[in-house]
Amino acid sequence: MSKNEFLTTNPIETAAVAEDFAGSLKPGDIVCMYGDLGAGKTTFCQAALKALGVEEQVTSPTFTIIKEYMGRALPVYHFDVYRVHSEEDMFEIGYEDYFFGKGVCFIEWAELIEDLLPEKVIRVSLGYTDEEDERKITIEYSGD
Ligand code: ADP
Ligand code: MG
Repeated sequence: MSKNEFLTTNPIETAAVAEDFAGSLKPGDIVCMYGDLGAGKTTFCQAALKALGVEEQVTSPTFTIIKEYMGRALPVYHFDVYRVHSEEDMFEIGYEDYFFGKGVCFIEWAELIEDLLPEKVIRVSLGYTDEEDERKITIEYSGD
Protein backbone atom coordinates (compact mmCIF):
# COMPACT_ATOMS: atom_id res chain seq x y z
CA MET A 1 0.00 0.00 0.00
CA SER A 2 1.40 3.37 -0.96
CA LYS A 3 0.03 6.87 -1.03
CA ASN A 4 0.78 10.04 -2.99
CA GLU A 5 -0.64 13.49 -2.41
CA PHE A 6 -0.88 16.51 -4.68
CA LEU A 7 -2.26 20.01 -4.28
CA THR A 8 -3.54 21.66 -7.47
CA THR A 9 -4.76 25.22 -7.93
CA ASN A 10 -6.67 24.86 -11.22
CA PRO A 11 -8.10 22.20 -13.57
CA ILE A 12 -5.01 22.28 -15.77
CA GLU A 13 -2.80 21.24 -12.86
CA THR A 14 -5.26 18.49 -11.98
CA ALA A 15 -5.10 17.32 -15.60
CA ALA A 16 -1.30 17.24 -15.40
CA VAL A 17 -1.44 15.03 -12.29
CA ALA A 18 -3.91 12.74 -14.09
CA GLU A 19 -1.68 12.54 -17.16
CA ASP A 20 1.34 11.49 -15.11
CA PHE A 21 -0.73 9.00 -13.21
CA ALA A 22 -2.14 7.48 -16.42
CA GLY A 23 1.39 6.64 -17.49
CA SER A 24 1.65 4.13 -14.67
CA LEU A 25 -1.56 2.22 -15.47
CA LYS A 26 -1.56 -1.40 -16.53
CA PRO A 27 -4.15 -3.71 -18.12
CA GLY A 28 -6.79 -4.69 -15.58
CA ASP A 29 -6.24 -1.72 -13.29
CA ILE A 30 -9.32 -0.32 -11.58
CA VAL A 31 -9.21 3.33 -10.63
CA CYS A 32 -11.83 4.33 -8.05
CA MET A 33 -12.65 8.02 -8.03
CA TYR A 34 -13.91 9.72 -4.85
CA GLY A 35 -14.92 13.29 -4.14
CA ASP A 36 -17.96 15.54 -3.88
CA LEU A 37 -19.81 16.92 -6.84
CA GLY A 38 -17.55 19.34 -8.69
CA ALA A 39 -14.39 18.18 -6.97
CA GLY A 40 -12.84 17.24 -10.30
CA LYS A 41 -13.39 13.51 -10.85
CA THR A 42 -14.48 13.94 -14.45
CA THR A 43 -11.74 16.50 -15.11
CA PHE A 44 -9.20 13.98 -13.83
CA CYS A 45 -10.68 11.12 -15.91
CA GLN A 46 -10.79 13.20 -19.08
CA ALA A 47 -7.09 14.01 -18.81
CA ALA A 48 -6.15 10.44 -17.90
CA LEU A 49 -8.12 9.00 -20.82
CA LYS A 50 -6.56 11.48 -23.20
CA ALA A 51 -3.12 10.44 -21.97
CA LEU A 52 -4.08 6.81 -22.59
CA GLY A 53 -4.72 7.72 -26.21
CA VAL A 54 -8.48 8.17 -26.24
CA GLU A 55 -9.14 10.68 -29.01
CA GLU A 56 -12.91 10.83 -28.68
CA GLN A 57 -14.34 13.52 -26.43
CA VAL A 58 -14.94 12.12 -22.95
CA THR A 59 -18.15 13.21 -21.27
CA SER A 60 -19.47 12.12 -17.91
CA PRO A 61 -21.41 8.85 -18.37
CA THR A 62 -23.95 9.74 -15.70
CA PHE A 63 -26.96 8.44 -17.62
CA THR A 64 -25.40 5.43 -19.34
CA ILE A 65 -23.36 4.45 -16.22
CA ILE A 66 -20.53 3.25 -18.43
CA LYS A 67 -18.82 4.42 -21.58
CA GLU A 68 -16.30 2.38 -23.46
CA TYR A 69 -13.33 3.92 -25.28
CA MET A 70 -10.34 2.61 -27.16
CA GLY A 71 -7.00 3.95 -26.00
CA ARG A 72 -3.65 3.59 -27.73
CA ALA A 73 -2.86 0.22 -26.16
CA LEU A 74 -5.98 -0.82 -24.28
CA PRO A 75 -9.70 -0.33 -23.91
CA VAL A 76 -10.70 2.18 -21.27
CA TYR A 77 -14.00 1.97 -19.38
CA HIS A 78 -15.33 5.11 -17.76
CA PHE A 79 -18.05 4.52 -15.15
CA ASP A 80 -20.17 7.01 -13.27
CA VAL A 81 -22.19 4.95 -10.82
CA TYR A 82 -23.97 7.91 -9.21
CA ARG A 83 -27.31 6.55 -10.42
CA VAL A 84 -26.68 2.93 -9.51
CA HIS A 85 -29.09 1.92 -6.78
CA SER A 86 -28.44 -1.79 -6.41
CA GLU A 87 -25.96 -4.46 -7.33
CA GLU A 88 -28.62 -5.66 -9.76
CA ASP A 89 -28.06 -2.50 -11.84
CA MET A 90 -24.39 -3.38 -12.09
CA PHE A 91 -25.05 -7.00 -13.05
CA GLU A 92 -27.39 -5.77 -15.77
CA ILE A 93 -24.63 -3.78 -17.44
CA GLY A 94 -22.30 -6.78 -17.12
CA TYR A 95 -19.79 -4.96 -14.94
CA GLU A 96 -17.72 -8.10 -14.36
CA ASP A 97 -16.55 -8.18 -17.96
CA TYR A 98 -15.13 -4.70 -17.47
CA PHE A 99 -13.73 -5.06 -13.94
CA PHE A 100 -12.01 -8.34 -14.66
CA GLY A 101 -11.04 -7.68 -18.27
CA LYS A 102 -7.88 -6.40 -19.91
CA GLY A 103 -8.79 -2.76 -20.02
CA VAL A 104 -8.48 0.00 -17.46
CA CYS A 105 -11.58 1.06 -15.48
CA PHE A 106 -12.25 4.50 -14.03
CA ILE A 107 -15.18 4.56 -11.63
CA GLU A 108 -16.66 7.86 -10.44
CA TRP A 109 -18.60 7.58 -7.15
CA ALA A 110 -16.98 4.21 -6.44
CA GLU A 111 -18.12 4.34 -2.80
CA LEU A 112 -21.62 3.45 -4.03
CA ILE A 113 -20.49 0.04 -5.27
CA GLU A 114 -17.75 -0.68 -2.73
CA ASP A 115 -18.98 -4.26 -2.15
CA LEU A 116 -18.42 -5.14 -5.80
CA LEU A 117 -14.85 -3.88 -5.96
CA PRO A 118 -11.97 -6.33 -5.92
CA GLU A 119 -9.32 -6.06 -3.22
CA LYS A 120 -6.70 -4.56 -5.46
CA VAL A 121 -7.78 -1.14 -6.68
CA ILE A 122 -6.28 2.31 -7.00
CA ARG A 123 -8.15 4.98 -5.07
CA VAL A 124 -8.03 8.57 -6.28
CA SER A 125 -9.70 11.09 -3.97
CA LEU A 126 -10.28 14.73 -4.82
CA GLY A 127 -11.15 17.13 -2.06
CA TYR A 128 -11.90 20.81 -1.73
CA THR A 129 -9.65 22.96 0.44
CA ASP A 130 -10.19 26.42 1.98
CA GLU A 131 -8.82 28.01 -1.18
CA GLU A 132 -11.17 28.43 -4.11
CA ASP A 133 -10.10 26.24 -7.06
CA GLU A 134 -7.59 24.39 -4.94
CA ARG A 135 -7.94 20.60 -4.74
CA LYS A 136 -6.14 18.01 -2.72
CA ILE A 137 -5.61 14.83 -4.71
CA THR A 138 -4.71 11.61 -2.94
CA ILE A 139 -3.71 8.51 -4.88
CA GLU A 140 -3.61 5.27 -2.91
CA TYR A 141 -2.66 1.81 -4.08
CA SER A 142 -4.35 -0.99 -2.16
CA GLY A 143 -3.65 -4.70 -2.27
CA ASP A 144 -0.11 -5.73 -3.19
P1 ADP B 1 -16.88 15.94 -10.64
O1 ADP B 1 -16.76 14.96 -11.76
O2 ADP B 1 -16.09 15.55 -9.42
O3 ADP B 1 -18.30 16.27 -10.30
P2 ADP B 1 -15.93 17.89 -12.59
O4 ADP B 1 -14.58 17.47 -13.04
O5 ADP B 1 -17.07 17.63 -13.48
O6 ADP B 1 -16.21 17.31 -11.11
O7 ADP B 1 -15.93 19.45 -12.29
C1 ADP B 1 -14.90 20.08 -11.58
C2 ADP B 1 -15.11 21.59 -11.71
O8 ADP B 1 -14.25 22.29 -10.85
C3 ADP B 1 -14.81 22.06 -13.13
O9 ADP B 1 -15.74 23.06 -13.46
C4 ADP B 1 -13.41 22.63 -13.00
O10 ADP B 1 -13.17 23.65 -13.94
C5 ADP B 1 -13.44 23.19 -11.59
N1 ADP B 1 -12.12 23.28 -10.93
C6 ADP B 1 -11.64 24.36 -10.30
N2 ADP B 1 -10.43 24.14 -9.77
C7 ADP B 1 -10.13 22.85 -10.06
C8 ADP B 1 -8.99 22.02 -9.77
N3 ADP B 1 -7.94 22.44 -9.04
N4 ADP B 1 -9.03 20.75 -10.22
C9 ADP B 1 -10.09 20.29 -10.91
N5 ADP B 1 -11.18 21.02 -11.23
C10 ADP B 1 -11.21 22.29 -10.80
MG1 MG C 1 -18.24 13.66 -12.72
